[in-house]
Amino acid sequence: MAIGSNYNNLVAEQSQAHTRLIRNYDGSNPDFDYIIIGSGIGGGILADDLADRRGGDARILVLDVGSFVYPTHVYNISRVPNDSVARHFGVDNFRDWPDDPYYIGERPQMVFGGRSIFWSGLIPQVQAWELAYFPDAVRAELTAESLDTAGSKMNASRSLGEKARALVERFASSDLAEDFVIQETPRALHQPYLLPDGTPSKSFFVEPTGVFNTAELLINQVGLTPGADQNGKGLFIRLNSFVEGVSDTEHGWHEVRVTDTVNKKQLSFFAPKVVIAAGSLESPKLISRSAVYQRLGEAVRRNVGFGLTDHPVSAESQAYVSGMAGSPRIPLARADHAKIVFYSKGRRDSNGHIMFPFNIEMNVNHEYWHLRDNDPTADAVPDESGRCRVDIKFSFANCLDDNNGIFSAPDDDYLPLVRFRRFSDLRELLDVRFPAVAGWRKGEGVFFDLLNATRDRVFSQFEGVEMITGRYGGGPGEQWPFGWGTVHHACGTLRMPWRPNLQTQTFQTDSVVDENLEVRGAPGLYVCDMSVMPISTAANPVRTLAALALRLSKHLTDGGSP
Ligand SMILES: Cc1cc2nc3c(=O)[nH]c(=O)nc-3n(C[C@H](O)[C@H](O)[C@H](O)COP(=O)(O)OP(=O)(O)OC[C@H]3O[C@@H](n4cnc5c(N)ncnc54)[C@H](O)[C@@H]3O)c2cc1C
Repeated sequence: MAIGSNYNNLVAEQSQAHTRLIRNYDGSNPDFDYIIIGSGIGGGILADDLADRRGGDARILVLDVGSFVYPTHVYNISRVPNDSVARHFGVDNFRDWPDDPYYIGERPQMVFGGRSIFWSGLIPQVQAWELAYFPDAVRAELTAESLDTAGSKMNASRSLGEKARALVERFASSDLAEDFVIQETPRALHQPYLLPDGTPSKSFFVEPTGVFNTAELLINQVGLTPGADQNGKGLFIRLNSFVEGVSDTEHGWHEVRVTDTVNKKQLSFFAPKVVIAAGSLESPKLISRSAVYQRLGEAVRRNVGFGLTDHPVSAESQAYVSGMAGSPRIPLARADHAKIVFYSKGRRDSNGHIMFPFNIEMNVNHEYWHLRDNDPTADAVPDESGRCRVDIKFSFANCLDDNNGIFSAPDDDYLPLVRFRRFSDLRELLDVRFPAVAGWRKGEGVFFDLLNATRDRVFSQFEGVEMITGRYGGGPGEQWPFGWGTVHHACGTLRMPWRPNLQTQTFQTDSVVDENLEVRGAPGLYVCDMSVMPISTAANPVRTLAALALRLSKHLTDGGSP
């Protein structure tokens, strides 16, 4: 059975803007050296890097079910918050588990460029204590090279300016620096702003006018229509192409079967190397309905679609402040801004437990400097107090949660049930999730004390603090810290070798992909999206995925170990 109109809210059209800007692959030659399924962060960065390496002598095809909706990030189209625009494009590609305490929020965006069209562009760096959950070879390469290259590829920002630098310096000389590495939060920018006199800035020290996304990356790589000879070498893109399944053909090649969502035609493409990069919900669904699934060993099959994991992020703690103590005092007003990450150092206590299994994300006057509010004539400021507002939140790491998963079945009409335990269930976090990642097991009161004490350590560095939100806790006027997880960062459904918890030192080998992201038992078939992650890190995951894509590109072109 081929897909019909199963996916509510999927845009399925071929606009003139699409065909005039990039040519939809229409060559007669169905054979390629590489086929990549999905043009999001994983697939898009891989395709772009492969084209840099092999575009002159190989045929590379990117297939995406999405339409050409925007050729740029949504920050460039309106002042509406990116997550609100994203929600309008979320595709119903699964059904939520009917009972409490299960629920996962949001839906994935399936368009050219995937979720990189809608994301917020934060690219904090995964830290050593989290990388310890990645297999040795992967960790070594990411640390030595690909995490840095990923940052450059995505134009990692350097600073939001003098005030931001001063705040970071002051925090770095406080006692918080014993437990946290404190830096400005790197963001994936697209272009530099103009300087106040109208000349372009030479570097990315100031506010950007856009955010990195893989639609622009790929448009830049293929050039304008008519583009290269369709039957020759180079990178080609075919949108509105829903991949139904992947099967083996002769001589180690794979057949990739596609339904065109516009004209409903079925067609096939062939390659010896196929990379599935359809996102952590769609990729396991695709493997489950592909012939290869039957060949996977029972132990590996059990992990296809399971371990769907997000990182618990707390509600914001907010305060008005007037400055930062110390010599000299740093005055803070509404016009000042900073975005700061406190990376946990993963320090251990005397029991070997990780004391702070979370990063702290801080915004100074968040809403007032945001890229989308960059029209100086617009009154976009929602808070008229005129004072400087600081908010912080805690972002925890989370080992893969085998309780969560995608229950694909042959008769589910492409809409499997997804089971995902709510984070608002604090008992589960305290009894199972935090013990796995940190080793400690705390009661509710002690846990709230940890959050509140850390919150107080941060705010005590400021002067004139007037808290807006209550303390974390379950009592009247207190904030319940956690809500539910979302599909935005959810990962782990086609995992690489992983460690289930802090105590287990050896890596489990019944993973779905190996260290080179090749599906076990299916030579030439790879996965390159959030589903390969062996842990949901405290750091937002895109920089790590971009690094894995660059590492895979090296592996595929060097033909050996990356
Ligand atoms: C509003 C928002 C804000 C976010 N902010 C951040 C942030 O600041 N920092 C961060 O690190 N992360 C952030 N994220 C999360 C991040 O954007 C995603 O985790 C990441 O982009 C996922 O990349 P991916 O390559 O795994 O999948 P996707 O981007 O989902 O790409 C998968 C692609 O595959 C295509 N596809 C799916 N199924 C098929 C099929 N059967 N056939 C053909 N094509 C198919 C889809 O159309 C899509 O283009 C945010 C996400 C959202 C929505």
